[in-house]
Amino acid sequence: IKSASTRPPMRLPPLPTIREIVKLYRLNAVKQLSQNFLFDTNLTDKIVKSAGNLEGAYVCEVGPGPGGITRSILKAGAAKVVVVELDKRFNAGLRLLSAAAPGRVDIVNDDILTYNMAKALPLDLAVPWEGDPPNVHIIGNLPFNVSTPLIIRWLEALALRTGPFVYGRTQLTLTFQKEVCERICAPPRTSQRSRLSIMSQYLCQVKHCFRIPGKCFVPKPDVDVGVVHFTPLVRPRIQGVPFKTVEKVVKHIFHLRGKYCRKGAAELFPPERPDLLENLFTMSEVDPTIRPWQLTMSEWDRLAHAYWDICQREPWVSNYDFRAPKWEKFEIPTLPVTGER
Ligand code: SAM
Repeated sequence: IKSASTRPPMRLPPLPTIREIVKLYRLNAVKQLSQNFLFDTNLTDKIVKSAGNLEGAYVCEVGPGPGGITRSILKAGAAKVVVVELDKRFNAGLRLLSAAAPGRVDIVNDDILTYNMAKALPLDLAVPWEGDPPNVHIIGNLPFNVSTPLIIRWLEALALRTGPFVYGRTQLTLTFQKEVCERICAPPRTSQRSRLSIMSQYLCQVKHCFRIPGKCFVPKPDVDVGVVHFTPLVRPRIQGVPFKTVEKVVKHIFHLRGKYCRKGAAELFPPERPDLLENLFTMSEVDPTIRPWQLTMSEWDRLAHAYWDICQREPWVSNYDFRAPKWEKFEIPTLPVTGER
């Protein structure tokens, strides 16, 4: 038996090229759906290769469009590809592919933002979280307009081990606008370090695989694109704090990115309770005068835990929203007087 690495790629019967499919079915790109197609097989193969070995894999592909990446996934030996595409105009071309690879392509017309991936594949593919990742992948040349909300949604599902992560540490290989890709992968103390870096890196090992110049897409977008591979961590770098709480802390502190982290953190608490802000920094042992983008993951971990501890002690804090109009703000408990508690 040949090993996966020496086996030739799985051939598909002759098919019209992707360019021909687009022409044949008059699939003119719709801007509102961020439709930018890849016709170059070398590039679609390279994206799929970034996912790792797909021999016998179960893949969910986001936004297959005319099916260029889908073909590369099938050629790489995937056992099954579930393609989730909102635009039904692509069904005819995708059905050609399904006929060429019988039983291996499932076409789903749905919105990826609401599609429940926990139902997409057989549950017996699930493996223990602590072991190797399952042979389940998410791959997609994402529509730009949904890529950031989508990755945040998947990161939350990852933290809760729901959706695509009911199978275990499902890996993701996705494209993003170059700037978004840089933010996701930025290490501490770099100019691109942002909310997306912390949220992605506390839950995943992230790898920037390669860049695709905008000119490789049809039609050409105004930006270049980056491919990112995410492997969920067995143990998140922030543990024991709910995802939404981590997100709130990170969002507020990064709100004033260029200022001392104390400035953004102040928005987590009402000005009437300066003791809470002080508590946050004493409990976390973080220097309040460093900038948000300089904080290490261990410092974010300590800040998230300190905030969570304060919320446990004074539960009203988690509902505090500094942006809420005055009349919407509830009565803020005053500073406890010593000896009263
Ligand atoms: N995979 C194809 C390729 O690489 O040539 C097309 C990629 S194109 C950038 C994004 C695709 O996602 C389009 O086919 C578009 O119709 C689809 N799409 C956009 N919004 C979507 C959504 N919310 N759910 C599912 N598919 C969506």
